[in-house]
Amino acid sequence: MTRARVLLLNAAIGPLDYRVDREHAVEPGSIVLAPLGPRQLAGVVWEADRLPSDAEVGDNRLRPLAGVYDLPPLGAPLRRLIEWTADYYLASPASVLRMALASASALDGGRTTVEYRATGAMPDRLTPQRAQALERIGERQGLVRELAMIADVSDAVIRGLVKLGAIEAVEVRMDDPFIAPDPDHAAPALSPEQRAAADTFMAAVRDGGAAPFLLDGVTGSGKTEVYFEAVAEAIRQNRQTLVLLPEIALTEPFLKRFAARFGHQPVAWHSDLRQSQRRRAWRAIVSGEAKVVVGARSALFLPYARLGLIVVDEAHESSFKQEDGVMYHARDVAVMRGRFEGVPVILASATPAIETRQQVALGHYTEVKLPSRFGGATMPDIAALNLLADPPLRGRWLAPSLVRALEETLERKEQSLLFLNRRGYAPLTLCRTCGHRFQCPNCTAWMVEHRLTARLACHHCGHVMPPPAACPECGETDSLVPCGPGVERIADEVGALFPEARTAIVTSDTLWSPAKSAEFVNRMEAGEIDIVIGTQLVTKGYHFPNLTLVGVVDADLGLSGGDLRAAERSFQQIAQVAGRAGRGAKPGRVLVQTREPDAPVIRALVSGDADGFYAAETEARRHANAPPFGRFAALIISSENLDDAVNTARAIGRAAPEVEGMSVYGPAPAPLAMLRGRHRQRLLVHARRTLDVQDVIREWLGAVDWPKSVRVAVDVDPYSFV
Ligand code: ADP
Ligand code: ZN
Repeated sequence: MTRARVLLLNAAIGPLDYRVDREHAVEPGSIVLAPLGPRQLAGVVWEADRLPSDAEVGDNRLRPLAGVYDLPPLGAPLRRLIEWTADYYLASPASVLRMALASASALDGGRTTVEYRATGAMPDRLTPQRAQALERIGERQGLVRELAMIADVSDAVIRGLVKLGAIEAVEVRMDDPFIAPDPDHAAPALSPEQRAAADTFMAAVRDGGAAPFLLDGVTGSGKTEVYFEAVAEAIRQNRQTLVLLPEIALTEPFLKRFAARFGHQPVAWHSDLRQSQRRRAWRAIVSGEAKVVVGARSALFLPYARLGLIVVDEAHESSFKQEDGVMYHARDVAVMRGRFEGVPVILASATPAIETRQQVALGHYTEVKLPSRFGGATMPDIAALNLLADPPLRGRWLAPSLVRALEETLERKEQSLLFLNRRGYAPLTLCRTCGHRFQCPNCTAWMVEHRLTARLACHHCGHVMPPPAACPECGETDSLVPCGPGVERIADEVGALFPEARTAIVTSDTLWSPAKSAEFVNRMEAGEIDIVIGTQLVTKGYHFPNLTLVGVVDADLGLSGGDLRAAERSFQQIAQVAGRAGRGAKPGRVLVQTREPDAPVIRALVSGDADGFYAAETEARRHANAPPFGRFAALIISSENLDDAVNTARAIGRAAPEVEGMSVYGPAPAPLAMLRGRHRQRLLVHARRTLDVQDVIREWLGAVDWPKSVRVAVDVDPYSFV
């Protein structure tokens, strides 16, 4: 008989001991089912020991395990990664384990499930809800709950449509095998520069062993083609590859491109998967059948059977940082996973983060460079457009010279992209008569007008309301005015300027599913769009050879926030969006609208002096002891009750330990003082690099009590300071 220490999928409790009866064989990593109170919960054996013969009485009281799943045990490297992540980000190991097990339904051996899809038949009584459901569902298929979510209607509406014959049940097999990609399907002829980079990665894959790389190549240099060679090598070695992308929206074009190179699609992993797809993917990952997995950051913790390579594409993207639950940075955890698993990790970027460059400078990561665009394409010409000298007409946002450039591009039948990182029509709506501003009732944030959907929406909590006909404050009708531009307003302006141009708005509102983003890519490639107006969603990954003009509507926008990475992020964002221009045979040009043409960021972009900019930024960080030279951790104290939040924050502030090399700032109300109905207070810990700040915080918070209504979150290496 043995005793097993089991980590259960319950974040509130630590590991518990269970008795293992003879019929169950377990080892560390075994996935088991264990009783907890009246329920049974999945968990993973963390330690298993033979019970000593002189077992204490206590051992007899241990409850027996309820079962062992017929699945391979989680490997030691993954278990170490889970421990490390929990420790580093001050999270419970169970909440990290949850990301590895991912889907309770995947653990069971069921092979089929019943899903639903539209039959094409229209019911006689088409209520608005039913019409909306059928329209949104389109070709999609899923559980009743999944379809209800997609359609934004209740389950009952879907069930009603089933009764009416407009939606039907279909049996889905969940164990269909994935076809392995073929490493030699359509390998491109690489340029000598690309060949050298690819050889380095292929050797690292063959040799195995931990090896972090920075693949630093300008936009359009062929970074993807190059790391595909490493992926091909991993496939030949019968090892699995994980490719992490910063946005789900990029998955679909990636799948297409991958299939063109390897003959078959890789396995996709993201939050938009149906339960049956998730289950099928998870089991293929665990068995090793899934040779290549492409996913959002949550794919990082999955139990790959034979991991051989990790790629983090667009590695500088801050969307790799998770901002709720376990607040981890997928780029950094990917490097740790590579270390534990003993496999190479490739961080690919045209604008690497200062943190990553610093790892190169310290000799921890190997840098591989691709300094020029593939196929003789030239880097686009970037010019600043001084809004003070060349202002847009009243009530307009595009300066006359940008309008002229759009016109020329249209005449040449080429495509343009206008970039503005603001969704909706206008970021603020106010009453002309009394000055009332529409604020979210749950958040410290303005309601953003969305004309496409005729709503005001809060971008923080999702609260929506119809735009009122009259001001709720003074009752005046027709007095509401939009302030400032969002992408929809720019699209209106473009429509007024060029009524014949075909435009597309690209934001998370319009590309809300992989299918929508695939549709956008197809329309762009088919030349059905002349002018794209988009948010940061269009800054990454896409390759449209006929896109030759990029206009940055407001380059100063990103600089206002004032957080420590504001300048770096602005530089990256504009360099990335500029990188969409002129990727094919035709040269591209970029016009950057700004009120501060002399700001260092703008000057660096215009002169192409990225190195100079980075050097100055890095020096500034060193001087301020900011990351990567010093480190931060944020404590966010929130409660629906303002007094509880304030009092707890003060108690935590008073209990702050005096530690050499560490300062504590605050508490103070967070810039987002209210979020989703919770009042928020922040403390900021600033420490020297080498201090074990997690240990200090653990002990510090361990000594403070707070009411149940209060949540205290610790954000280690924070990227958001709101
Ligand atoms: P990056 O990821 O660095 O921006 P990509 O890998 O997307 O660059 O390459 C840019 C374009 O050039 C893509 O259309 C890609 O298919 C093409 N390309 C790059 N290298 C080659 C090559 N060796 N042979 C053929 N096409 C290539
Ligand atoms: Zn809100």
